[in-house]
Amino acid sequence: MPACLHCGEKWTWKDTFKRIASFKNEMVCPYCKKSQYQAKSSRQKTSMLIVAPSLVLPVFVLFDLYLPLLLLCYAAAFLLTPFFVKLAKENAPLW
Ligand SMILES: [Zn+2]
Repeated sequence: MPACLHCGEKWTWKDTFKRIASFKNEMVCPYCKKSQYQAKSSRQKTSMLIVAPSLVLPVFVLFDLYLPLLLLCYAAAFLLTPFFVKLAKENAPLW
């Protein structure tokens, strides 16, 4: 889980997840309320994580696999994203 670049407080999974789920690039620290951004490398990792289940979608359709399992993959990907969040003081373009 990331630590605030301003006050150094470590964010909880819930804090981090809430900030990701808002889909805003700017992340406000729950402790000192200062803005920071998700680091570029971290954003690439988390977006790959979210896209990954879509890559196996054709396999699910082709082999007539249990689709709720895919939803479970999506849920797992979302739940794991806070572990890959790193913060940066500057906003940078994704690619
Ligand atoms: Zn802070």
